[in-house]
Amino acid sequence: MKRLAEGRGLHKIFYRNNDFLARTLDKLGIPVGIEKVHALNDAGFELYKGEVLGLAGESGCGKSTLGRIIAGINRPTAGQMIYKGKSIQQMDKAEKKRFGCQVQMIFQDPFSSLNPRMRIGSIISQAPLKMGIWKAHEKTDRLEALLRSTGLDMSCVDRYPHQFSGGQRQRIGIARALAVNPECIVCDESVAALDVSIQAQIINLFMALKQQYQLSYLFISHDLGVVRHICDRVMIMYLGKIVESASTRDLFDNPCHPYTEVLLQAVPRLKNRHHQYAPIHGEPPSPINPPTGCHFHPRCKKALTKCATLAPERREITPGHFASCHLV
Ligand code: SF4
Repeated sequence: MKRLAEGRGLHKIFYRNNDFLARTLDKLGIPVGIEKVHALNDAGFELYKGEVLGLAGESGCGKSTLGRIIAGINRPTAGQMIYKGKSIQQMDKAEKKRFGCQVQMIFQDPFSSLNPRMRIGSIISQAPLKMGIWKAHEKTDRLEALLRSTGLDMSCVDRYPHQFSGGQRQRIGIARALAVNPECIVCDESVAALDVSIQAQIINLFMALKQQYQLSYLFISHDLGVVRHICDRVMIMYLGKIVESASTRDLFDNPCHPYTEVLLQAVPRLKNRHHQYAPIHGEPPSPINPPTGCHFHPRCKKALTKCATLAPERREITPGHFASCHLV
């Protein structure tokens, strides 16, 4: 399969102190005692054309930050984000504009991601008209086709976001993303805020649109049931690092990283109705002051002495199955 996007050694640091001078001194390596959140810590990934890549992990582990970097909303502090073989940092103005259309993001809360003062027709058509993807005289036909493919119709073009249900608003968000002819869509917990029955409809819609528009997805979710259902490959993230990645079947049948194992044990299953689910020991550590060595060692039941001081390297266990743990 052809590689569409790739991240190499991505770091993202957010500064709690907004003092420009302090941030600049810190970037120059001069210690100023500034508080910083290391949201991404040497994260790497590959996204292939036509695949659904899942990204799972606990809240606050950096999933959304990685999604926003892939979609070009945030810039990495260090590392390279490559799209179609070219580093985003090295793209010229025209290439960045094209990249901005080709990678779109769909957010968790469909209400706050739609402008409440704009009518649906304008929300969807604003970007493609401005970017010259649609001609003004094509607007009605294009809108109609898009709304039809996302399960809506032309009766909604003159209405406002508050006049729709959560599921319909998410369909509008999807139509807006598709309007600029994307190749890749980052879905950031895009079904988490919906009722279960609506979740199923939106997931089916994502899969139908994937076939219709030849899309690739980065599907960010903390729901491993949904991830297992729709993804071709899965990455597990812990405190800003990808700790394991594999094909969906490999990862669910043969997890190698202790963190993946405990995450999978916590997935409710019908056959385990009376099973007592054991929560992961301890609280996730703060990304302001992450543990030394393997970040997971304070919570890992299998930790070795060296885990507290030595960070494990990423190793390939079987073809396409990678994990970062001293035990593998
Ligand atoms: Fe646990 Fe050590 Fe593996 Fe980290 S490296 S997951 S602490 S066994």
